[in-house]
Amino acid sequence: MEGGLNEIGVPTAQDFNSGSLMGCQYCSTTINPSNENRESSQNAFLDTSTLSNFPNLRVYTLSMAKKINFNSQKKATSVIVQSNLISYIVNVRKEVIISAGTFQSPQLLMVSGIGPSSQLAPYSIPVISDLPGVGQNMQDHIFFGPAYPVALETFTKLANDPAFLLSKFAEFSTSKTGPLTNPVADFLGWEKVPARMRPGLGAEANIALAKYPADWPEVEYLSGAGYVGDWSSLFFKRTFLPTFPSSLPSLPYPPLLKTPQNQKMDVNTQQS
Ligand SMILES: Cc1cc2nc3c(=O)[nH]c(=O)nc-3n(C[C@H](O)[C@H](O)[C@H](O)COP(=O)(O)OP(=O)(O)OC[C@H]3O[C@@H](n4cnc5c(N)ncnc54)[C@H](O)[C@@H]3O)c2cc1C
Repeated sequence: MEGGLNEIGVPTAQDFNSGSLMGCQYCSTTINPSNENRESSQNAFLDTSTLSNFPNLRVYTLSMAKKINFNSQKKATSVIVQSNLISYIVNVRKEVIISAGTFQSPQLLMVSGIGPSSQLAPYSIPVISDLPGVGQNMQDHIFFGPAYPVALETFTKLANDPAFLLSKFAEFSTSKTGPLTNPVADFLGWEKVPARMRPGLGAEANIALAKYPADWPEVEYLSGAGYVGDWSSLFFKRTFLPTFPSSLPSLPYPPLLKTPQNQKMDVNTQQS
């Protein structure tokens, strides 16, 4: 993967966590090194003794912030919260930090009166600040996966060989080793769409992309060591190959990354 990305002009990066994403490298993942389990924010920060280190931190679980109240100087003074069916007010001493995610952060701002007045008015929400951009810039990305069969053992074997999967579960449970310790997509890359390909995107896309700063990537490469032929539905249209075939099936995606060099590499791999 690294060699392939280097070959198409994506250099190896030193540290994505530095804030610079251009390039490719093995990325850090939230795996607990003591048990090799993937961590979530909840089991990393809430279910452990970490909380007891912060006596001034109080966490309200199963609670929903419903609205932020402001005074006449537009300063946040309290938050209306609901836990189960009980509503109450949490007073603010200093500030309110909203981290309710991509959808709910702007929603909470808008029900509190911060957002485009044209959208708040129909709901009779008093406007604290008429900010036209709030809640308007959600962007989703397209996702597709060119996949090529190779003559090596990959994660595909976990998916289509139950006995192998069971043995790897046993290995993971007993020694915390084997393929199940792998987060699957551990090698990533980012880049701008190369200049030679930009005309093919069309004028509208190029104008939209021009809004982004020079160090913002436009394309992300995710590695996955397995063969998935049809990504339109991972669960119902998998075309996992039971064994490596003597002749390759026709591939459902155009060979986007194929250069004469890696076509030669493919042939060598198939012969090995
Ligand atoms: C399927 C998927 C896979 C992803 N994989 C990766 C990955 O491998 N690596 C990576 O770096 N990123 C990944 N991301 C992106 C990453 O998950 C998000 O960027 C990140 O979680 C955003 O963090 P956040 O704290 O801003 O919001 P969130 O993680 O969305 O947290 C918001 C929290 O606020 C809570 N909430 C919402 N409204 C309220 C309210 N009114 N009151 C109280 N609580 C509220 C929600 O329940 C939620 O718990 C993935 C995202 C998705 C959807």
